[in-house]
Amino acid sequence: MELSPGVHQIEGVSGANSFLVVTNQDSAVIDTGLPGNEKKIVEYARKQGIEPNKLSYIILTHPDLDHSGSAAKLKGLTGAKVAIHEADAPRLSGEKKLKEVKGGMGLILGVMGVFMKFTPVKPDVVLKDSDRLLDLVVVYTPGHTEGSISLYRERVAMFVGDALRTNSAGKPILPPGGFTVNMDQAKESIRKISALQYAFLLPGHGPPITKDASSALASFVQSGFK
Ligand SMILES: [Zn+2]
Repeated sequence: MELSPGVHQIEGVSGANSFLVVTNQDSAVIDTGLPGNEKKIVEYARKQGIEPNKLSYIILTHPDLDHSGSAAKLKGLTGAKVAIHEADAPRLSGEKKLKEVKGGMGLILGVMGVFMKFTPVKPDVVLKDSDRLLDLVVVYTPGHTEGSISLYRERVAMFVGDALRTNSAGKPILPPGGFTVNMDQAKESIRKISALQYAFLLPGHGPPITKDASSALASFVQSGFK
């Protein structure tokens, strides 16, 4: 579904939201969902007139399995370059383990891991704050993971990964504590992106905010993240 010109949410991707960004010359997928979504993503792009070998980048907001799970196979199908922040690159490439999850969810994910296997992938592009890919600016928003990023299409859209999420009513909420490496840092990151201007906020989980998103985020910060 095209939310704004050149900004698509790819329907039916399981795990986390997956987006397709299209410019005049280029295209990129932001996050890939759990393992097994690569064909859905390729089919969606094809419907938009983007043949698999024309996809330039697979940008991961962070390496958690629900975002990176289909990256290796999607790269195999398209030849797109995989991009991730430098602080999270060693987890994507398999040099470090994926995030340890605290509490009961860790157990559940451990059990899931038996069925859902992570395929490490060596990043082709290692990102830093303020880098540009297509017409997107990398905004370093650590907290959920060490290397979490948001991607900013100036004045239009902010892709936040798991820097925050939205509830079913489309209101901003904090990322879940058990999955978040450093909550104070996560709050600082939300403050950072709340200072920029955009109409659309595209989270990894929950429905996108499609109107006055930066004002919604500013009031979320002002209310003490409630
Ligand atoms: Zn997630």
